[in-house]
Amino acid sequence: MHYDTVIIGGGAGGLELASKLGRTLGRNVGPEKILLVDRSTFHIWKPTLHEVAAGTLNPQQEGLSYSILGRSNHFSFMVGELIKFDAAAKRLTLKEVHQANGDLIIPERQITFNRCVLAIGSGSNFFGTPGSEYAYVLENAQDAQAFHSHLLNLFARAAYSPAKQLNVAIVGAGATGVELSAEMMEAYHEIHSNSGSEQHFRINITLIEAAPRILAGLPEKVSVQAASALRQKQIRVMTATKVLAIHADKVETDQGEIAADVIVWAAGIKAADRNREYGLPVNRINQFEVNNRLETPAEGVYALGDCAACPWEGDKWVPARAQAAHQQADYLSEAFSAADKGKAFDKTFQYKDSGSLVSLGNNHGVGNLMGSLSGGNFFIEGLIAKYMYMSLHLMHHKAIIGYGKTALLALARVAQKRVSGRLKLH
Ligand SMILES: Cc1cc2nc3c(=O)[nH]c(=O)nc-3n(C[C@H](O)[C@H](O)[C@H](O)COP(=O)(O)OP(=O)(O)OC[C@H]3O[C@@H](n4cnc5c(N)ncnc54)[C@H](O)[C@@H]3O)c2cc1C
Repeated sequence: MHYDTVIIGGGAGGLELASKLGRTLGRNVGPEKILLVDRSTFHIWKPTLHEVAAGTLNPQQEGLSYSILGRSNHFSFMVGELIKFDAAAKRLTLKEVHQANGDLIIPERQITFNRCVLAIGSGSNFFGTPGSEYAYVLENAQDAQAFHSHLLNLFARAAYSPAKQLNVAIVGAGATGVELSAEMMEAYHEIHSNSGSEQHFRINITLIEAAPRILAGLPEKVSVQAASALRQKQIRVMTATKVLAIHADKVETDQGEIAADVIVWAAGIKAADRNREYGLPVNRINQFEVNNRLETPAEGVYALGDCAACPWEGDKWVPARAQAAHQQADYLSEAFSAADKGKAFDKTFQYKDSGSLVSLGNNHGVGNLMGSLSGGNFFIEGLIAKYMYMSLHLMHHKAIIGYGKTALLALARVAQKRVSGRLKLH
């Protein structure tokens, strides 16, 4: 099988790139022009995984099928996991696909290409902490759903236990940990408000962070406001606390032990170990090293998003964030379109930090806006920050399915919540 442009990974960056390229280049050239590959058959925007985990977002409703997206955006889709990559031969191999009972559905396949973009994201970084097998992670929709099912069972168990108590520990107070703790507390209150007093139980959520403050990568004011909002929600925030080991029922830290019925690890990212086997240079956390045109040293091979180590402002690296993946998808779409039309393209990729927004539950957010959006560094909080946070998800959908369908989807989501409630309980 041969395709002109192959994009591996249909996440925040890869799917936007495939959609943009498909609409500009794919329309009249046939299905061999652009191929998107993903190990999943449907797309969930990764920054919403904490909502899936807490049950406030239903992946069955929110998930977008890659095949259907390909039809409307003029790219082909193939399900499969990248397992081998030969940059010199411009050839890659996808793992066979099995169904749940082990029966083979699709055999191993090889695909050759003219150019390939690696957009396979990242996973969790345990920094060698012992006991990682006892912690849940939120790397994909399956992880988030598995955690949600477990959480519902734990809620039920706590409601009927003599102690009437559930202890939750979240390691890492970056955006993921902070948002997950707030969302879980709301899920708990929603369940409580709908159950009789004999089923009431207490939830203790502890957020553990090694840095001196939460949201350490964001301005201090954002971090201070977020910490205060979490404390108001009765979430225990422990900063400057190093996790030494994880056990089945507790987290061992340099400040003592924290009892935990369930533990979530949300501290740090690392790209796949297998990235080291592809003959491309990678950094300490397995990200493919690219230049400021997102090119790897192999001709025709590019990388973007969380799996790429891209230079920024001389001595820094572009952060692993959805807005970076989005900007890189825009950049490559422009570069490839120009190349295919025989036009010169001299621009290099320049990451622009537009600020950060953090959700603190249903009606509350906090964050800062930067650069052209605000003309400086502008602090926002409350409902406005929450609405702006929600608009980021809509902007991602707009890049993939356009304004009209995004508006319909948003309306459907509101209607669904009115009918079924905010929380998914099954
Ligand atoms: C809970 C959570 C909250 C977050 N909140 C924010 C936020 O508020 N703001 C922000 O900017 N960022 C946030 N992030 C980070 C953001 O989600 C990532 O930076 C962004 O998704 C990276 O985009 P990507 O395209 O590089 O990778 P991803 O979006 O992770 O997509 C990677 C894709 O590659 C596929 N894939 C992986 N390996 C293979 C393989 N071997 N073969 C085939 N397919 C493969 C995966 O199935 C996936 O679809 C959050 C992350 C999490 C987990």
